[in-house]
Amino acid sequence: MTNNYIYFVANWKMFGGIKSLNSLGKVIKFSKLSKKFKFKLIYCPPYTLLSPFIKKIKKSQISLGAQNCHYISDSGAYTGSISPEMLKSLGVKYVILGHSESRSDGDTDYIINRKVRSCNKKKLKIIFCIGETLKEKRNGLTHQVLKKQISKGLEGVKNINNILFAYEPVWSIGTGVIPKLPTLRNDINILKSFISKKFKKKNIKILYGGSVNSNNIKDLKDISTLDGFLVGGASQNAKKFIDIVKKTFN
Ligand code: PEP
Repeated sequence: MTNNYIYFVANWKMFGGIKSLNSLGKVIKFSKLSKKFKFKLIYCPPYTLLSPFIKKIKKSQISLGAQNCHYISDSGAYTGSISPEMLKSLGVKYVILGHSESRSDGDTDYIINRKVRSCNKKKLKIIFCIGETLKEKRNGLTHQVLKKQISKGLEGVKNINNILFAYEPVWSIGTGVIPKLPTLRNDINILKSFISKKFKKKNIKILYGGSVNSNNIKDLKDISTLDGFLVGGASQNAKKFIDIVKKTFN
């Protein structure tokens, strides 16, 4: 891995109740004891747990993220929605945008772009997810699809300093299957140079997401250009999540 901070994002998806917060104590303790490793932990629980979460992680190194938000930055007649301002005022620092599960629920590149702009306005950091489907991969369209998601989703966006990119092949999420390492290494290089040129910025941060667990992390961590991992299923279990972090550094 690089010598920079490694990011570990826990995406709880639509799982977890108030009792799930009990396991956080272990993660807080671990993060305090592990000062020699340079990592950042970002938890993205469902909206309903954001408020109790913030109390729980108050004096810890853990940051809080939301799994999505509305494209209107402040407030309005949008039943069932949560705005970037609402998240910001709660103490949320990050928002996941463009997750494939949100894309399949109707988030188009255009809507994602509006969400990015609204989050930028509120100075929220963004975890910007991109990924190709199995069909697109089989048709040799991976790079084309990823570049389009970036170009459209970040159209008109000048400053990407607050963006962490997350490459999550759709066919890898929740399936137990991860990309072949040489392919992943090559994809990350291609993405970094594309984003770097497009936004005239060095030091692009890209995380990998898709079925990361405490076994395959031993291989994934060898991709030195990766800046971290977005973990879904395995992040709901504190021990498994801590194991992933530990094994990244061992
Ligand atoms: C995700 O939700 O972004 C994800 C990568 O899920 P999983 O780790 O379960 O594949």
